Amino acid sequence: MRLKFVFAAITALVIALWLASVDWALMSGGIWSARGLLVPLTGILAMAFMAAAILLAARPVQVETALGGLDKFYRLHKWLGIGAVVMAVLHWLVEKAPKWLVELGWLAPRQRAAGAAAEPRPFADYRDLASDLGEWAFYLLLVLGALALWRRFPYHLFFKTHRLMAALFLVLIFHTIVLTPASYWTAPISLLMIVLIGTAAVAAGMSIFGRIGKSHRFTGEVTDFHFHEGNSVLDVGVKLTTAWPGHAAGQFAFLKFAGTERAHPFTISSGWANTGRLAFSIKGIGDYTRRLPGIIEVGQAITVEGPYGRFDFGSAEGPQLWIAGGVGITPFIARMEAITIAGQSQDVDLIYSTGALDDAFINEVRRAADAAGVRLHIVDTGLEGFVDLAKLAVWTPGWRSADVWFCGPSKFGDSLYQAMHADGLPAGRFHRELFDMR
Ligand SMILES: Cc1cc2nc3c(=O)[nH]c(=O)nc-3n(C[C@H](O)[C@H](O)[C@H](O)COP(=O)(O)OP(=O)(O)OC[C@H]3O[C@@H](n4cnc5c(N)ncnc54)[C@H](O)[C@@H]3O)c2cc1C
Repeated sequence: MRLKFVFAAITALVIALWLASVDWALMSGGIWSARGLLVPLTGILAMAFMAAAILLAARPVQVETALGGLDKFYRLHKWLGIGAVVMAVLHWLVEKAPKWLVELGWLAPRQRAAGAAAEPRPFADYRDLASDLGEWAFYLLLVLGALALWRRFPYHLFFKTHRLMAALFLVLIFHTIVLTPASYWTAPISLLMIVLIGTAAVAAGMSIFGRIGKSHRFTGEVTDFHFHEGNSVLDVGVKLTTAWPGHAAGQFAFLKFAGTERAHPFTISSGWANTGRLAFSIKGIGDYTRRLPGIIEVGQAITVEGPYGRFDFGSAEGPQLWIAGGVGITPFIARMEAITIAGQSQDVDLIYSTGALDDAFINEVRRAADAAGVRLHIVDTGLEGFVDLAKLAVWTPGWRSADVWFCGPSKFGDSLYQAMHADGLPAGRFHRELFDMR
């Protein structure tokens, strides 16, 4: 909801400033006049969306609270990216279509009104180059956008190709500067666009030179690990060798093990006790996480970038219902540890739904729940099926008065949220962590 509002607010602000920037006296009506309006509008919107998306990709922790955490604003980044591609397509169509109509003989070529002054053309020598570069950048944008949305395209290749967006953006800045109509440079929209594009250009540079997240990177080494065969979860203990700022239960970090190709996000599954120790539980679901148990070593160097996220369990007052699907149990393990470390008590029911039971792992969860005084309900989905409201009514009859915190597969979260919302739970009382950034 909050993300939709931010997306709508950016769109409305750009359109409002654009409306205030158009010289309506020059509009004479007809297709050419409409084209003269829509080409800048679609171009400005495409650049504004792309700039905002690139700013978010730079992981500005300052906006985490406002946007609900890094996992959420990567979702906004995705919508902004889609918005940029849609606007770029419209920009290209509005630019090209009247010319095609002229070639077909269906539209008269543009005539300058008798006596009308020629439009001033700054950067006249670069206009053809800017136009050609813009067109090629547009085609590449379409390809990169399609690859980003095509879920079967492997993540590690998506990650590499997606970084080209930063370079593409710099090319499109050149296109924009050279081809923006002269009248827009002194209009209200220009101030917003200069600030937005300028800061996004810095973010694009940071991406190209690998500097994103650098100030939040800490080093450490693997102290212990254990692979649970029953649920394919690798427990990893890490000792930090540089000063960690501490974290709230439910936050996550990007982990890069020495000798592996790139960082992956994992929830920190331990509470913070100022000991420099962090724990993670990593489920083997793809090529990297399945390979990890075979290559991890005690003493292996590790880079931990974080902490990020705002899945922070809100206030400790009032009853809470926690629902975990599979490895979505990790933020709840961290929270139970944090409650125990702080010596707090809280009215909590934890439903841990899993199709892959591993006795040792379940015992870890049980021990953490007992120590924190959390009521644990383990659901073996193979025997009992998926969690639904009818089952909740039996296990936790008072759930309607609780705040719900969910972490697990997105389809599970969607169906649970819809059922609970339809049953009267206000949207603001259903909190969820997104385990997927794409
Ligand atoms: C905020 C957050 C917290 C998470 N916490 C945990 C956790 O505690 N335990 C756990 O087991 N898993 C967690 N995950 C999921 C974990 O990051 C992925 O399972 C893992 O990265 C998959 O990598 P892979 O190469 O093995 O699988 P692939 O099959 O290559 O990827 C599967 C999916 O994982 C995601 N992914 C892969 N690589 C990356 C990357 N470098 N950066 C971002 N996303 C990526 C993509 O959505 C991809 O579609 C979390 C994810 C997020 C976003």
